[in-house]
Amino acid sequence: MSATTAREDRRNATAHQGVAVELTALRRTYGQVTALDDLTLRLAPGELVALLGPSGCGKTTALRCLAGLEDPDGGRIEVGGKDLTRVPTNRRDMGMVFQAYSLFPHLTARQNVEFGLQLRGHNAQRRRTRAAEMLELVGLESQADRYAHQMSGGQQQRVALARALAIEPQVLLLDEPLSALDAKVRVQLRDEIRRIQLDVGTTTLFVTHDQEEALAVADRVGVMRHGRLEQIAPPEELYSQPASEFVADFVGVTNRLPGTASQGTATVLGSSVPLLAGSATEGAVMVLVRPEHLALDPVADSATHDPGPAATVVSASFLGAHGRVRVRVGEHTVLVQVPSAAVADFTAGAPVRVRPLGIPALAVASA
Ligand code: ATP
Repeated sequence: MSATTAREDRRNATAHQGVAVELTALRRTYGQVTALDDLTLRLAPGELVALLGPSGCGKTTALRCLAGLEDPDGGRIEVGGKDLTRVPTNRRDMGMVFQAYSLFPHLTARQNVEFGLQLRGHNAQRRRTRAAEMLELVGLESQADRYAHQMSGGQQQRVALARALAIEPQVLLLDEPLSALDAKVRVQLRDEIRRIQLDVGTTTLFVTHDQEEALAVADRVGVMRHGRLEQIAPPEELYSQPASEFVADFVGVTNRLPGTASQGTATVLGSSVPLLAGSATEGAVMVLVRPEHLALDPVADSATHDPGPAATVVSASFLGAHGRVRVRVGEHTVLVQVPSAAVADFTAGAPVRVRPLGIPALAVASA
């Protein structure tokens, strides 16, 4: 059988049409704490939405309400057009993966994957076939007879994912599934999760506090704050067009530079920067400029450009794929991204000029 045919067969065995998920004005309070403040969130069929936000913003509560593990005080949960708000967890048909390590320790990988199928009354032959398909999907067919303690954290989470998907859930819920893993495994497994999710087509809610993870896996990322969605957008849009200061600060690194706004642009460091929708548009503003939207010129080269204000290098760091230079401009410290190869050109104390590249930025009124 060709690799393509095998993949198609697997897809036929695992693929799901995907259903729409709608959370409408969901409310959940714990005493004085409002964990969800009329949260409204819609997932299109087959979509992967990542919920991102600082600790305590309500991400996990939203996921647990969708799972039926928490009862909302108000609002509505619909999956595939059906109202599930008061339906118990075991009748919601959802697959869940939590932080490591949630496998049953006394069962092998295969038995863990078969577990949900057994609960649903599938016969032994069907369970075995399905578990084999699922373990193949997550690349662990050779580990089927291992127990949790004989597998790495990353392998255990793959088994947990296989177990969640084995029951062909309508919705897949992932609550910080990678947070207990080390950096390299995290990246591998998050890419793997995305590949598998696209393969099976299950509508997925992925909760994380890690912005890079959210941007890397999701069709859309929802940034939560105080129990509500602050902004939801595809990763690239969220990053390049943050709708608020909170989102610009939370997603990526940003400089706050004083400027003067007029008619949709601001003058910052002596250059003109177009302003994004939602910006303060007149008068004294703080402009939120990403490090990669600034350039650094050694003073000797600055004659070729319209020079910005004089600045001094404070420090320069090599970060692998690129470098970051911290410079002092008057009373402000500014971070500028530079190519890795250029890091060595910027030694502490060297005079430089900082130049905005003219990429649209968000401006907020000066305090
Ligand atoms: P984290 O990233 O730290 O897990 P989160 O964004 O997932 O945070 P939630 O766990 O949803 O946040 O919690 C939202 C708020 O509700 C927090 O203030 C939390 O302390 C509170 N909370 C959550 N569960 C309970 C509970 N069972 N009893 C009391 N307060 C709770």
